[in-house]
Amino acid sequence: MYDWLICGAGITGAALGYELQKLGFKVAIIDRLPNPPNATRFSYGGIPYWSGTTPLLQKLCQEAIERYPTLGEELGQDIGFRWLQLILTVAPEDDRELLHKIYNICLRQPQWVTPQEAQELEPLLNPQAIQGALVFEHAQADPELLVKAYLEAFLKLGGTLIYEEVLQLLEQGVKTHHRDLGCGGVIVCAGGMSRRLLKRSGVEVPIFFTHADLIETAPSPSCLRTFVMPANLKRLDFESRGALQQEAWSEDQPEILYPSFDIGGAPLQDGRMRLGQISRLHPNPAFMPAPTTELEIRYGLRTVLPSLADMPGTWHHCLVAFSEGALPLVGQINDYWWIFSGFTSPFVFVPPLARRFAQYLQSRQDEVIPLLFR
Ligand SMILES: Cc1cc2nc3c(=O)[nH]c(=O)nc-3n(C[C@H](O)[C@H](O)[C@H](O)COP(=O)(O)OP(=O)(O)OC[C@H]3O[C@@H](n4cnc5c(N)ncnc54)[C@H](O)[C@@H]3O)c2cc1C
Repeated sequence: MYDWLICGAGITGAALGYELQKLGFKVAIIDRLPNPPNATRFSYGGIPYWSGTTPLLQKLCQEAIERYPTLGEELGQDIGFRWLQLILTVAPEDDRELLHKIYNICLRQPQWVTPQEAQELEPLLNPQAIQGALVFEHAQADPELLVKAYLEAFLKLGGTLIYEEVLQLLEQGVKTHHRDLGCGGVIVCAGGMSRRLLKRSGVEVPIFFTHADLIETAPSPSCLRTFVMPANLKRLDFESRGALQQEAWSEDQPEILYPSFDIGGAPLQDGRMRLGQISRLHPNPAFMPAPTTELEIRYGLRTVLPSLADMPGTWHHCLVAFSEGALPLVGQINDYWWIFSGFTSPFVFVPPLARRFAQYLQSRQDEVIPLLFR
């Protein structure tokens, strides 16, 4: 019998499990597989600590960036934390003034650079494809190292890791293929599978997911120096429109919207790159896009990062959870079940909110957590 059973060992489950175990709770984290091919595994690991646009988000951004430089030391392992620049490309058709207005209300302000200046920062960028760029001082944690560090610190504190698939949530535990596991409370951190798991357990909550496609390269000497992403990030508006179409979120329904494509990529510390990304809104988590998706990503890269378009690499597909609006879904669903999922930019918001949520579950007091369940 555990105090808390956390379903999912991506960044959300691993961080929350660590924080709860650290407070003295008896915690088990359950995932289908060791090293699952989840959204965390394929993430760019970018920490947009500059991005908060409201006092609440700015406060959380500040907490995150104060904690990250020492988080590896706290967890006892390298998390691949580093500072590097983010180049937000401005396409010829983009409204430059509007983008200025949007980004100028962030916690930190960007620097506007010309196409040539952008190329000096990132030699792989094609200056002819852009009218300029916005540059932020950005940060990154290695997604695989960060989760490994959280999980190992969790185990060291006496936590339990279980590798089984949760079929359904029970009143006081979960059902797997092999057994029923008992606990005081279940916390759903199942990423893009959270919606299906909760629905199969008899509740519907406003948690959604995209199907994301990307290409991962092997380590290469001709690696990106910086993060490159479009300033006009289509995915966010795409997700908002998808969340509004609640009646379309039945698994037997067709694709909800035409796919969204944000051309960009990120380097990892070991010289690998993750390049992408196409996002799709299909209500069935088992949906697989056609293999031509890889060619679509390569075709998109040809404009902005031409030398990467033909670089050998492997196409990957994963599910990414999101919720309505900029805030994640964190809170109590009923007497037994809780949720900690649907983060936009989890690499910035998960470390501070996992700590706050764990403390809230102990004391039922926090100024932020009660604002996060809708
Ligand atoms: C290409 C790409 C780039 C990205 N870049 C960034 C970035 O730069 N910065 C940023 O902040 N975010 C980024 N993201 C988003 C971020 O990676 C994800 O939002 C985040 O990793 C999700 O973490 P999670 O814990 O919610 O879900 P996941 O990492 O998907 O983990 C969920 C876990 O739950 C397990 N699970 C599900 N169902 C069950 C079940 N029934 N039983 C047992 N286990 C189950 C799964 O196996 C999985 O391991 C990116 C995403 C992609 C795809």
